[in-house]
Amino acid sequence: MLVLFLNLKLIFVATTISHIMSGNTTFTMIKPDAFEAGKTGMILQKIIENGFRIKALRLSHLHKEDAEAFYAVHKERPFFNGLVKFMSSGPIVAAILEKENAVDDFRKLIGSTNPAEAAEGTIRKLFAESIERNAVHGSDSDENAQIESNFFFSQFDRH
Ligand code: GDP
Repeated sequence: MLVLFLNLKLIFVATTISHIMSGNTTFTMIKPDAFEAGKTGMILQKIIENGFRIKALRLSHLHKEDAEAFYAVHKERPFFNGLVKFMSSGPIVAAILEKENAVDDFRKLIGSTNPAEAAEGTIRKLFAESIERNAVHGSDSDENAQIESNFFFSQFDRH
């Protein structure tokens, strides 16, 4: 009975902490174009220099089905099949990043979807090739940051 009580209390504390922390984390992927071009180190350095702490990190190669599931929200868009093919074409580096106001600050750091429109000094301006092969992903809301982080990482992978 005591063990059950302690377990429940632990779950409650963990849930509360995770609730309080939401808003302070975002999810990113270094996409196959940037990984293949050897830009992973420079991109991670830029992320760290801008005050983000790496909470989880993983090198993966998405299957077609994984990329379809990750980008399901874009299923009806004309670029969907090309995007899925590109995202499953080679390794990616996935990470959870921690910083106050993480989602918005990271979106600013990566710049516009189309690198031609991205501000000077942003990651996409510096490292992206095109609107599709645009070097990095960054979550667009706290809710999606949680969903996308859970897509790649278990609780045991987060530090
Ligand atoms: P993001 O939040 O800036 O990554 O942009 P979106 O969520 O709108 O789109 C997801 C990804 O789809 C982008 O990062 C690009 O890789 C790709 N993408 C978006 N718009 C276009 C487009 O108009 N053409 C092509 N080929 N790819 C696109």
